[in-house]
Amino acid sequence: TIGAVGDALGRSVFVVGGFVRDLLLRQENFDVDIVVEGDGIAFAEEYARRYDCRVRAHKKFATAVLIFADGFKVDVASARTEYYLEPGALPTVENASIKLDLYRRDFTINTLAIALNGPHFGELLDYFGGQNDLRGKAIRVLHNLSFVEDPTRMFRAIRFEQRLGFQMGRHTVHLLKSAVRMGFLDKISGPRVFNELVLIFRESDPLPAMRRLDELGLLAFIHPTLSVRHLSDGTFAAAKQAVDWYELLYTGERCQRWKVFFLCLLSDLDHGEVQQIVQRLAMPPQCEEFFGSERDAATRILNQIEWRSMQSYRWRDSDIHALLKDLPVEALLYGMAITEHEEARRTISHFITHLRHVKCLLRGHDLQSLGLAPGPIYREIFDALLDVRLDGQVVTREDELQFVTN
Ligand code: ATP
Repeated sequence: TIGAVGDALGRSVFVVGGFVRDLLLRQENFDVDIVVEGDGIAFAEEYARRYDCRVRAHKKFATAVLIFADGFKVDVASARTEYYLEPGALPTVENASIKLDLYRRDFTINTLAIALNGPHFGELLDYFGGQNDLRGKAIRVLHNLSFVEDPTRMFRAIRFEQRLGFQMGRHTVHLLKSAVRMGFLDKISGPRVFNELVLIFRESDPLPAMRRLDELGLLAFIHPTLSVRHLSDGTFAAAKQAVDWYELLYTGERCQRWKVFFLCLLSDLDHGEVQQIVQRLAMPPQCEEFFGSERDAATRILNQIEWRSMQSYRWRDSDIHALLKDLPVEALLYGMAITEHEEARRTISHFITHLRHVKCLLRGHDLQSLGLAPGPIYREIFDALLDVRLDGQVVTREDELQFVTN
């Protein structure tokens, strides 16, 4: 249908980038990027008129998103034709604008496009050797100034290398090292670096990419003390295990796995050093709190749990709950990953599986019907009720009522 709208408007339309790369690698990818030679927004609007979907246009970037009834989205971008195609241009300059659009991309493997217009449907455009590099498992930039033009590509190169099991070409590594040496990383804003790190931490196993960032000097650029050299292979593996375990539990609450890995990366740094990183990356306020006060609390509590496990302290469930209830789940999973005490790990996992979502059954109106006037006493009663429930002293609603009246 996309090609048909292109035909009707007399515009060439292509599917490009990661979708085509993953198609050729036979990997799943639901991010469809379309490039239209000409006005992408007008194209998207025409498409929406015919096929009943919504359009969100970004005039500033000449891009649009098609949003289908089931939530599926397709990104549409414009390859501007006006500069490159003379009126009555010769057939040899046909597709000049898509070629230029593809030339602006990061790596050869991301420059492949497939034509969608009727007569050309399914034709693969490969101007920069993308297929060859897919076969040779190589990440290569398109020109010598690529990393200088956009230093975030250094992070992207490492992410693709590790995700796909590819390697940067020799010249590309050389260009990356020169760009690091010449300080080009300083040109990227904090939030962009932060975004790239989060993307790496969202990959299924971020450790190899972290090692590569370290080896190529990208971690040290974020902060001189930042390194994975001190981390045993086990730490990230344990974090991955904890996150995978949590996701299998289906508690209904998703965890942001990147935060667990990020905490592991910061595990040897003190409060001041982490604060410098938070500032450098200009993290948003809720992340600032997470890597600040919440991380500090998690470290303190983990120490307590470890210490008490070493004393073979006999926990009541209400003690565990009181200690851990205010920590975000990501900090709990980090604790499970980082601790070397099996007993401490079990305590945290017990809290997550059995205690975290325990609630007492009585509500405010129940207390009111017992003749208790609302006030701070309610909080105290609910806390006490929760403790006795956690410790198995009350089970039913009647038990709770009995407990309150006593
Ligand atoms: P992913 O599977 O991680 O989403 P992707 O290749 O789809 O990978 P996106 O970040 O969604 O990556 O980008 C879509 C396309 O835009 C890429 O395939 C690439 O061609 C291009 N692109 C993205 N970022 C850059 C950049 N910094 N410089 C040049 N081209 C880029």
